[in-house]
Amino acid sequence: MKKIAILGAAESGVGAAILAQKQGYDVFVSDMAIIKPHYKDMLNDHGINWEEGQHSSEKILDASEIIKSPGIPDNAPIVAQAVQLGIHIINEIEFAGRYTNAKMICITGSNGKTTTTSLIYHILKNANYNVGLAGNIGRSLALQIAEGCTFDHYVVELSSFQLDNMYDFHANIAVLLNITPDHLDRYDNDMQKYADSKMRIIQNQQENDSFIYWADDPIIKRELEKYGIKAQKCPFSILSKKGMIGYIENGTYTLETPTPFNMEQESLSLNGKHNMYNSLAAGIATRIAGVSDKNLRESLSCFEGVEHRLEKVATVGGVLYINDSKATNVDACWYALESMTRPTILIIGGKDKGNDYEAIRELVAEKCAGLVFLGADNSKLHNFFDPMGIPTYDTHSMKECIEACNKLAKPGYTVLLSPCCASFDLFKNMEDRGEQFKELVRNL
Ligand code: ADP
Repeated sequence: MKKIAILGAAESGVGAAILAQKQGYDVFVSDMAIIKPHYKDMLNDHGINWEEGQHSSEKILDASEIIKSPGIPDNAPIVAQAVQLGIHIINEIEFAGRYTNAKMICITGSNGKTTTTSLIYHILKNANYNVGLAGNIGRSLALQIAEGCTFDHYVVELSSFQLDNMYDFHANIAVLLNITPDHLDRYDNDMQKYADSKMRIIQNQQENDSFIYWADDPIIKRELEKYGIKAQKCPFSILSKKGMIGYIENGTYTLETPTPFNMEQESLSLNGKHNMYNSLAAGIATRIAGVSDKNLRESLSCFEGVEHRLEKVATVGGVLYINDSKATNVDACWYALESMTRPTILIIGGKDKGNDYEAIRELVAEKCAGLVFLGADNSKLHNFFDPMGIPTYDTHSMKECIEACNKLAKPGYTVLLSPCCASFDLFKNMEDRGEQFKELVRNL
């Protein structure tokens, strides 16, 4: 019996373990951390061997293949040992892809993946497609396949960490939204390595596949010159319509193929420049999948957005509160600020991943009436923003932060939580940060 070892026992690892066992592998699951009870139960119910709090190399390194969670870096000692021994290391999506013939619509990019993935899924679902959702979002692809789901299409959100361990997987429709600095700590601070990882979305694509990408992105443009793209190229832009499959012109959202489609930009339910890109990408992808004009028009105008992404929480005393807790890098915050139409109190701070705030200086000067710093250590923010002469507050909990916002905001203002940073210094995760924000706003 072939042996497979699985590193990391959360959604993807446990799903992969169950599928591997179903496919007749001898499976061993190992997690350095303590496994959540729910996942332990799933492993036990299937009689799968597992360990936690350690990686026993003798039980892992005799496997013919290792399925690694995207959260585990390549320099983790057990991974380095496996590489040295020449053991093939893949991820859950690569593994699961071997056991399905469903058409794969795959979305990657530095920002906008979850929004675009959810929008594509929403459009296909509304058009009554037999479609599943997987990847970084929802239930693992492997588990769905193990449970016998027979979807015709899967919409799959792929991070660069996932793409790193994918080799034969084939995206029928690939969407590349943008490439801006993020997670560089995992790529030796080398932007090229990160870009190479994102470009893996097109590996294995053939002539009858489609590659949808943001044509205004300088890094994508540069990278494309290096690749002989086999798939049908489907660029989109909001700057130009020349050669584009999707674009915005004079307030009209337009798609060129397979047949011309347009609708008023104002009727799109998602606002902000970044969401124009996401809506163009989703429109192109779903029309390639055969969605009718009527269905697309309806779905683009009724999509409610995704929690923690420019989510309108409430208007209190004339002040609109927006939760964009998912903005964990400077680029995401740039787009959030860009879409603000009223004087804004920006909540910024957290665990800084080596941010350069220069990119938002101009927008902060133009749009912000106040800045509230929310982090365990706000000194870098003070050093950068205090000289701009905008009122700032120093806070270290969501409660203090909301009190500060309350003091700064006047009727007609917007309070925007779009922190540019990860949340782990003060919160469990970005969801916890967003929930605490919403809870306190609702109690104002
Ligand atoms: P991801 O899954 O790639 O992290 P999300 O859809 O969760 O992306 O959005 C993350 C953050 O990026 C949010 O703050 C959102 O407002 C912003 N954002 C969404 N789409 C884009 C885009 N196309 N370009 C830049 N920023 C975006």
